[in-house]
Amino acid sequence: MTRRIPHWIDGRETPGTSGRFSPVFNPATGEQTAEVALASTDEVGAAVAKAKVAAREWRHSSLSKRSAVLFRFRELLHDRSDELAAIITAEHGKVLSDAGGEIARGLENVEFATGAPQLLKGGFSEQAATGVDVYNIRQPLGVVAGITPFNFPAMVPLWMCATAIACGNAFVLKPSEKDPSASLFLAELWKEAGLPDGVFTVLQGDKEAVDALLTHPDVAAVSFVGSTPIARYIYETGTANGKRVQALGGAKNHALVLPDADVEMAADAVVSAAYGAAGERCMALSVTVAVGDVAQPLVDAIAARLPKLVIGDGTTPGTDMGPLITREHRDKVAGYIGAGEQAGATLVVDGREADVPADGFFLGTTLIDNVTPEMTVYTDEIFGPVLSVVRVDTYEEGLELINANPFANGTAIFTRDGGAARQFQFDVEVGMVGINVPIPVPVAYYSFGGWKASLFGDTHMYGPEGISFYTRGKVVTSRWPDPATSSVDLGFPRTR
Ligand code: NAD
Repeated sequence: MTRRIPHWIDGRETPGTSGRFSPVFNPATGEQTAEVALASTDEVGAAVAKAKVAAREWRHSSLSKRSAVLFRFRELLHDRSDELAAIITAEHGKVLSDAGGEIARGLENVEFATGAPQLLKGGFSEQAATGVDVYNIRQPLGVVAGITPFNFPAMVPLWMCATAIACGNAFVLKPSEKDPSASLFLAELWKEAGLPDGVFTVLQGDKEAVDALLTHPDVAAVSFVGSTPIARYIYETGTANGKRVQALGGAKNHALVLPDADVEMAADAVVSAAYGAAGERCMALSVTVAVGDVAQPLVDAIAARLPKLVIGDGTTPGTDMGPLITREHRDKVAGYIGAGEQAGATLVVDGREADVPADGFFLGTTLIDNVTPEMTVYTDEIFGPVLSVVRVDTYEEGLELINANPFANGTAIFTRDGGAARQFQFDVEVGMVGINVPIPVPVAYYSFGGWKASLFGDTHMYGPEGISFYTRGKVVTSRWPDPATSSVDLGFPRTR
């Protein structure tokens, strides 16, 4: 019988009762390895009710107790990261070192959240008026939900839950149904760390569970990471139901390579950022904009590196790139390569011809040159190991192209000229910018977020903006009677 992946409700694994399931595959072998329960509206309601009770208790826990739980969780996650990496690779397909990297970036968010006592400090204004003090405090929202994508099954939940829990909320996670097991591993670690039952919940599911969370009156806020059409839907539905929403969407990240760039350094950076995790990263570089004379040497340097990338099962040591998440997605990505070729772009390396394992959802690396902005290979988020090169004559032309793109998650400039880099940082309309750094994911004490179609809402994720998102500000204006006027003699002079 097929293994069934359950929910995690009120501190324990809970089998689904909806009778609906979704298959889970090992993308490296193409085999179905399990099926995951899909929560019904009623199951969501019952789990949120448990979370609501837990949230009431948890907000009473002291800051030092919360911090102690987070420290223990951090240690457990650190010590058991190899186990978690294996779980990620088995369902996502990314190579083990990359799965380890995702956990390391998630750990940063836990480490940040251990500082809750410092982060939740308010301000105080003594004597705002005579005898009047004003101060502000930040309080948790109650039950908050996170809806996460397949491509980072541990890191993205950690972006959200560490901060939400540190702030005193109960967190309900609806992970991707494509790789649901990492979320249960996190749940077990939270329990072992001493988090009270119900403060961290996993509801496996699809649109039905998402809609139930978006409309549930006891869910105060929703954090979402995924594709742009769903992000827009989550934002519109969640806010229409009175919730606070931050919804991070898709991406089309450009690298701008200036003629003075170190070509070898830029090629190394672009290759790792375009093809790492088979291009299934929201911060993957998918377009290289080559300015002037740098184009041909850069294309040659990238092309020279691609045959050296080892493609295969992510559990095999020495593998650089694993499979894509599903057969359908692999075929869709392959379709873009054909469309680009037909539209007149130059296929320098064709991933469809690569010698990859026959089983599993593999596709080789593709480099496609002379791409122009109206081609689908340029306009669409492909989310696979396909790198397009657009050739332009000037910096201005490259900048205009990047700023005209509806996505605005990340971008990177490659140059030796500090003035040019600074100008780019000033001019570019993108949320996260790298200067000779291909994947500028902010460290945990900054916040993560794109602009335009890459983020709906006004708060970026994790870091200081995460603290704001998961708390409500309250301002207290206070006046105490003059102790000298007390009917009880407190020992104050009567004439002050
Ligand atoms: P997705 O949008 O298909 O799914 C994300 C989540 O939404 C999943 O939990 C899924 O179950 C749920 N969902 C899917 N369809 C739904 C629907 N119709 N109604 C309600 N919920 C629905 O995204 P994905 O394929 O899992 O992940 C890849 C996408 O995520 C890419 O577009 C990538 O750029 C994006 N992403 C963005 C960031 C970022 O930080 N901006 C980070 C990681 C991934």
